[in-house]
Amino acid sequence: MVYLRNSSRRLERKIDRENQYMNMMRSQRDGEAWYTIYRTYDEVQDKLEEIASSNSIATLINLGSSYENRSIRGIKFSTGGNNKPAVFFNGCQHAREWVTVMATTYLADQLSQNYTSDNFIQNLLNIVDVYIVPIVNPDGYVYSHTTDRYWRKNRQPNPGSSYVGTDLNRNWDADWNGGQSTSTSPSSDIYVGAYPFSAYEANVLKNYMQSIPNLLGHLDIHSYSALVLGPWGYTNIQTPDHAEVVSLGNAMNNAITNTNGYPFTFGTGDANGSLYLASGTMPDWSYDGLGALGYTYELRPNSASGGGFELPESQILDACEENYNGAMEMIIWAADIQAGCTDPSACN
Ligand SMILES: [Zn+2]
Repeated sequence: MVYLRNSSRRLERKIDRENQYMNMMRSQRDGEAWYTIYRTYDEVQDKLEEIASSNSIATLINLGSSYENRSIRGIKFSTGGNNKPAVFFNGCQHAREWVTVMATTYLADQLSQNYTSDNFIQNLLNIVDVYIVPIVNPDGYVYSHTTDRYWRKNRQPNPGSSYVGTDLNRNWDADWNGGQSTSTSPSSDIYVGAYPFSAYEANVLKNYMQSIPNLLGHLDIHSYSALVLGPWGYTNIQTPDHAEVVSLGNAMNNAITNTNGYPFTFGTGDANGSLYLASGTMPDWSYDGLGALGYTYELRPNSASGGGFELPESQILDACEENYNGAMEMIIWAADIQAGCTDPSACN
């Protein structure tokens, strides 16, 4: 009987331990469960509020309003101080590229969580201010959820035309309307708009980014094609900073590829034919107009047959992790420039 009682106690303890373990696993899954289905504009706003309220260095920022008066919001990570090096990450210039919303929200979420538990992340964020804006085209994003899954542009009417919308990523003042993958017809998915920054949302973003005093790097997150693209995007001519563009581009591309073994390709211009040249894009403007190294990510999948703009929900978390690791390389790069050393954990 004694033996049985002891055995039963041991079994109870074993069950307790297992329950503790299961609860721990469950809470980890609860955190990740948010990233297993695509989320609406409203759900993302709630998530951003949750992130901002859970971390003392995270602030909810409101860049301005869309044409239909939705807030363009994000998270700013800063430990304070003036003129610190900054990086800016955004998703969803193109409404139908839903995984970019998930990946940028995940980036903010993970940075917030890791800041409290990881010395390396703490040191990085002590040096670099990080801005993350998951949905820069809220009207288009909502429209792609409610009405037309494959909507790309914003939802701003075009005077004299029944066709709605400007392609935000053709509306920036870097080779605007330059003829590389552009159209002057409002009916087109790549309509350049009436003039540079005629699109409400592009103008809001421009004004906000110009207000960041020491912006060194920018990632404009798109899908799909599994690419990392550096400036220029509108020409195959190399920038004066080509060596650095390539160095950081390769570092990000390798970090992404090594995450899950899903191969990405880095290039500038048309990336040796992997994509196409495009005039009037946001990252070309962040380089040309602000002097920040501006890159485009094209997240998973690498092809239409892999899901195209509708990446299977089972792969959202993989895409989020890949984007996180790529973005981390840019934060580390910015910290290195500031600290003048290659080990951010040793520089503060
Ligand atoms: Zn896009």
